[in-house]
This record gives sequence, structure tokens and C-alpha cells, in this order.
Amino acid sequence: MEPHTDATLLPPLASGPLPRPTSEPQPPTGHTASTAERGAFSLAVCTCGWSGPARRSRDLARKDAARHHAA
Ligand SMILES: [Zn+2]
Repeated sequence: MEPHTDATLLPPLASGPLPRPTSEPQPPTGHTASTAERGAFSLAVCTCGWSGPARRSRDLARKDAARHHAA
């Protein structure tokens, strides 16, 4: 009775270059605030999604935007 040898050759592992995780160059998260008109009010809006409170004067909205930039 001969032993049943089960010699299964394993395929060589694929040792190719691993696909590197693509690190997409992200644009600098800048804040570009501007003022927007909403009816009789002005409010500061930013490219980051932030928006200031509605002001009666555009100058105040601009100051809100400047304050957001500084923060
Ligand atoms: Zn912002």
C-alpha cells in the first residue's frame, strides 16, 4: 500500500509591483470668501461652504468674510 502523496505545486506568488495607492494632489484648501446678495441683505460666502449671517450692509458682510479668513 503506497501512501497517497498529494504534491500540489503552488503557483508562484505574483511578485509584481504592487499598485501604489494613487495620492491625488489635492488643491490647497483655500478660503475664498466673497459677498453675495440676498434680497436686501448681503452675506459673506466662502468656497469652503461657510456663509456668514445676512447683513444689511455689504461692508459688514465683507468684514465677516475677512474675519472668516483670519480664523
Ligand atoms: Zn472658508
